[in-house]
Amino acid sequence: MAFPITRLRRLRRTEAIRNLVRETRLTPDAFVYPLFVCPGEDVRKEVRSMPGVFNLSVDQAVKEAREVHSLGVPSVILFGLPEKKDEVATGAWAENGIVQQAARAIKSAVPGLMIMGDVCLCEYMSHGHCGIVKAAPLGKSLGAAARTVAPKVVTARSKKKAMNEFAVLYEQSSYEIVNDASLELLARTSVSLAKAGVDIIAPSDMMDGRVAAIRKALDEADFTNTPILSYAAKFASGFYGPFREAADSAPQFGDRRSYQMDGANVREAMREIASDIEEGADMIMVKPAMPYLDVIAAARERFDVPLAAYQVSGEYAMIEAAARNGWIERERVMMESLISIRRAGASIILTYYAKDAARALA
Ligand SMILES: [Zn+2]
Repeated sequence: MAFPITRLRRLRRTEAIRNLVRETRLTPDAFVYPLFVCPGEDVRKEVRSMPGVFNLSVDQAVKEAREVHSLGVPSVILFGLPEKKDEVATGAWAENGIVQQAARAIKSAVPGLMIMGDVCLCEYMSHGHCGIVKAAPLGKSLGAAARTVAPKVVTARSKKKAMNEFAVLYEQSSYEIVNDASLELLARTSVSLAKAGVDIIAPSDMMDGRVAAIRKALDEADFTNTPILSYAAKFASGFYGPFREAADSAPQFGDRRSYQMDGANVREAMREIASDIEEGADMIMVKPAMPYLDVIAAARERFDVPLAAYQVSGEYAMIEAAARNGWIERERVMMESLISIRRAGASIILTYYAKDAARALA
């Protein structure tokens, strides 16, 4: 049936009709709100490149968690800024690690709120990489980053000495992010988080075999009921910039291209996801979201596990910056960006807009 019998505009005429025929709907229970927990008391330090997002001490994180819960957002995901960093990521798996402290405090204050624990080592490593860094024999560097990328200037205090040693390795392009040895630390971190009350373990490191290693460790520690949400297809992305400021996790040399995915590859993303599911991932994630909506759609088509997408710091920062300049309507673009992620097929959205979007939907 063609025009004039068919007139698609009939169903767009009023808001009531548009609402009736709407294919995709957003609800706050799709949202996960990221929290960055730091040492201290009464700390609420805004992240420069992410207006409205803060580094929060445990007491403030609890306050924030209460608010998130009261808005109908069911879950937070915790990232930590440890007191000290080292080369075995002690802060990630220590019993009194900053995320472990926050998880305990939030669990007891807001028991109805689900806590996801991001599992990675970069925030806790002096060198800022997601795994253990080891010198490799010259010319045989397996995980070495591209030499074309200039090493980042060392900015932070105590990192400096450790960095000098690594800088030498980097200069020779002879370091490796060691896969298998890193798995042990990731598994240890996961068990430690589960013990602290984290409900869902979310590994984001992109080491091969980490889901299997974490599943095994959780089961051995009697956490057979703790689900794993794996960052299955996590791309090496420029959109992570502001997060690195928020979590103080920028690699001090090289980049993450030897473990995070190449942004050009969708078939490889399907292999990553398939292997994580095979290893025991209960849910999977694509990250970032908006530049990778096709990957989300392809994953939705192909896999039957719950699918999450992470609307990352750079996606948020772009919208915020443009809105501040008066170039776009903030709330409208916020909702449009979220609905696009949902429409692509993600049922769970990790987003810095969780609170504001929940308010807009109320
Ligand atoms: Zn990492």
